[in-house]
Amino acid sequence: MSNKTLVIRADSDNFEEELSKAASIIKEGGTVAFPTETVYGLGANALDPDAVKKIFAAKGRPADNPLIVHVSSKDQCGDLAEDINQTAFRLMDEFWPGPLTLILKAKKIVPEITTGGLDTVGLRMPANDIALELIRMSGTAVAAPSANTSGRPSPTSAEHVIQDLDGKIDAIIDGGIVEIGLESTVVDVTGDIPVVLRPGQVSAEDIKECVGHVEIGYTDRTLEESETARSPGMKYTHYSPETKVILIEGRPENVKSTMTELITNCHKEGKMVGLLATEETSGSINADEMFSLGKRNEPAQAAHSIFMGLRHLDSKEIDLILVDGTLKTEGIGAAVFNRLRKAADEIKKV
Ligand code: AMP
Ligand code: MG
Repeated sequence: MSNKTLVIRADSDNFEEELSKAASIIKEGGTVAFPTETVYGLGANALDPDAVKKIFAAKGRPADNPLIVHVSSKDQCGDLAEDINQTAFRLMDEFWPGPLTLILKAKKIVPEITTGGLDTVGLRMPANDIALELIRMSGTAVAAPSANTSGRPSPTSAEHVIQDLDGKIDAIIDGGIVEIGLESTVVDVTGDIPVVLRPGQVSAEDIKECVGHVEIGYTDRTLEESETARSPGMKYTHYSPETKVILIEGRPENVKSTMTELITNCHKEGKMVGLLATEETSGSINADEMFSLGKRNEPAQAAHSIFMGLRHLDSKEIDLILVDGTLKTEGIGAAVFNRLRKAADEIKKV
């Protein structure tokens, strides 16, 4: 593992040259963080167990949590997975490149460390030119989980990656702030009916519209150690700041009054409160720090802001983060609530 992390800026004059340096790092078994349309990924050669080990080490990720393998073309899937059915091909045609990970039966070539010991592999073709060019130039499939310390909010900018992983990885490509801000939708397509294991921008409704069926295979809370998870990542605490987080869900007027009461009580005890809230909710509330989730009816704006907001508030001298659960739950809203519920230490229904 390196002590010095090379930072490559996408707007530098010799970017092509720098990008080929990053691809060489991957070829030679090193680690490179790169932007995708969802969040920043921490990449290594998916077929080289020693390289993949470095991802787990840098993130402090549990070994049974499998990695998503990134490809630069649909054709590359045939090298990595077998028994790819019509459902999978239809979803690829509709949503790739894009924020959809397909769980397929793995070929033997994919090492156990990459699949977390499963007989399946998650494949995705990202909709980001830097990511696609890096994968293409590295000449291999690139395993890449989110480029954060395991458990922390996912990184939506290169600064977030630097906060967590500087000195622990070989390089970071700074491509600015990501487009979506939430991880990909994960769908198991090993059977006839696709099963959504993690919600994302591609919604269950989108999948149903494309292939005619869909099942929901995730829950929004963290599973107990004894419960079995269909997707191994489901059982771990996720996306959490160090500061305590309370998510407040319910009717807007009740959410507002609960927030006001909690803030008043904290202030009496000399404690400071940060607010992650929609414009409609935050207006009349007197918190010490504020980060906007945008408008209640525009969950895509919230998707773009939640991880950035949680990290921002966590960096402030506050004792409690209150999160506004009045957002619309349709479309990407389901994914936003999934992440917020996992990040919360406590959920109040009011
Ligand atoms: P991250 O890489 O941090 O975005 O997390 C990847 C997510 O995809 C985790 O929740 C994994 O459990 C899930 N995943 C990856 N590969 C598989 C697989 N083969 N089967 C089920 N879930 C998977
Ligand atoms: Mg992650």
